[in-house]
Amino acid sequence: MSLPDPNNAYSFDDFLEWRNNADYFLEDPFFQRVVQFYAKKEWPRLEKEAKQLSAKVSFAWKNLADQAAVPEKRPYMVHYDGHNHRIDRIVRPLETLTMEKEVFAEKLFSSDTSPFEKLVKMYLIYQNGEACISCPLTCTEGLVALLEYYADTPELKQILLHCKEGINGDIAIGSQFLSEIQGGSDVPANLVEAVEQDGSWRLYGDKFFCSATHADYAVVTAKPRGSEKVALFVVPAWLEGNKEKEIRNNYTINKIKWKMGTSELSTAEISYNGAIAYPAGPLERGVANVAGIVLTYSRLTVGITSAAFMARAVREAKAYSKKRSAFTLPIKNFPLVKLQLNQIETMSRRTVAGTFKLYKAFLSLDDGLKKGMDADEPMEMKQKRFTTRELIMLQKITSSWDCTDVLRTAMSIFGGHGVMEDFSSLPRLYRDAAINELWEGPRNVLLTQIHRDFKRAASWYAPGHVVADILKGADTAIITPLQKEAKELVAHPDLTMPGKETMKICERWDRFCHDLTHAFQDLALMEVEKNPVFL
Ligand SMILES: Cc1cc2nc3c(=O)[nH]c(=O)nc-3n(C[C@H](O)[C@H](O)[C@H](O)COP(=O)(O)OP(=O)(O)OC[C@H]3O[C@@H](n4cnc5c(N)ncnc54)[C@H](O)[C@@H]3O)c2cc1C
Repeated sequence: MSLPDPNNAYSFDDFLEWRNNADYFLEDPFFQRVVQFYAKKEWPRLEKEAKQLSAKVSFAWKNLADQAAVPEKRPYMVHYDGHNHRIDRIVRPLETLTMEKEVFAEKLFSSDTSPFEKLVKMYLIYQNGEACISCPLTCTEGLVALLEYYADTPELKQILLHCKEGINGDIAIGSQFLSEIQGGSDVPANLVEAVEQDGSWRLYGDKFFCSATHADYAVVTAKPRGSEKVALFVVPAWLEGNKEKEIRNNYTINKIKWKMGTSELSTAEISYNGAIAYPAGPLERGVANVAGIVLTYSRLTVGITSAAFMARAVREAKAYSKKRSAFTLPIKNFPLVKLQLNQIETMSRRTVAGTFKLYKAFLSLDDGLKKGMDADEPMEMKQKRFTTRELIMLQKITSSWDCTDVLRTAMSIFGGHGVMEDFSSLPRLYRDAAINELWEGPRNVLLTQIHRDFKRAASWYAPGHVVADILKGADTAIITPLQKEAKELVAHPDLTMPGKETMKICERWDRFCHDLTHAFQDLALMEVEKNPVFL
């Protein structure tokens, strides 16, 4: 019982003291263990690099991300300058510009940055939420990967150099504009036209979801005139010498969308009116290349982002539960709170471990997922590529789904303070996590795609065999029921077939995909945990 006291002396300063001094890398021995396990010999160097980056990301960049997130600092547009020139300037706050410069100066896509160094740094950076950084980073990564294959002209070589190493200290930013109003998922249905005129390609038509609109270059899908096949182009935002003059490359930015999450990042609607575009790769392979190369990185990033968001949410909820008391007890002592913290910590750890295991598998493939399912290659490699391809989609849908659950639970540990935008960053991360479920292939689309892939591969890779390979090293009590389920579900002709029977299969397929991904992540977690600790 407590007696009245008009001087309410309650303070959160203890918690804030901890949070203001929490270094993302140093506070996370589990993550350090994961990196040691997967990066092996690279660990001593990575540890040093991670410590240096974490000292920036956990303090200065964290504060900039929070400061830029207030509604009055949202990006806005200035369509015309004072002299009637159309400029379509995207105005972003100084906090974003400062952080962007510093993050891109890390040169994550340089030839000098190893894939694991990039992964570790991305994981740390993503703990600050979207912040107008995560999407542009992964879009630049996808653009670089595309150009590593197809930079066969002076223009594309220059763009590749600009994104990877920078030109005169300026590191370029990429974006990717696929979605049109009639179809985000259905890219082949898109209508933007590419026309070859006087030896150059020009684009005409509208794109409806264009994030990182401030970027220097966009990967854009368009159909060459007269063709039903989508091709892939790289489109500079400004042609040589025009950036300073704010003369865009023959396109207008019509509006910035007002959205629930990733609000610090502009997502715009644009119209191409003859924008100069450089073809990247064979014109007829646009869909294959955008899915196999560009979206692969974005989907991997959804996994990394989800893991990062979860790690931060769990860390902060745990710390808060030690400081906050109710009914005279620290809330961490309530079994329900303890249970929920344990549950979200397990979700977080399995996602981190699974992300690294999958990334390692991806790195072991020559040519990543550029080679499609029909590529003529030795069966062992074909199957490995197949499991990696499916796991990237499985991880994308599962980790983004779990992430909102983890964040919601973490926010609930904070009670009413959990939803206060100026109490912690968790509400912002929660809103960002909801976007991760949608972009880079929404859940239903990927579930349908995975089912279709399993069916297509069944003659050379039986569903039960796929499950066994994905879960190699797991308990047979886990593998066998999933194999049985896979076999039965893949026997169904098509998830788009109308009828009640299909709906029942869909329900089971949805659950199966989650269960399979969780089993893969749990296996990764077990492998990390049973490995001796060198820390
Ligand atoms: C904040 C934000 C930023 C974005 N930024 C970009 C960007 O920078 N560049 C870009 O190109 N796109 C961007 N997008 C677009 C995003 O990729 C699309 O929204 C997404 O691909 C889905 O397309 P859609 O919105 O047209 O939905 P639709 O395709 O209309 O889908 C609607 C529903 O139908 C389901 N559905 C569709 N097809 C199938 C199928 N075959 N089987 C089962 N279910 C199906 C979907 O899962 C979904 O539930 C962004 C989206 C958001 C939310």
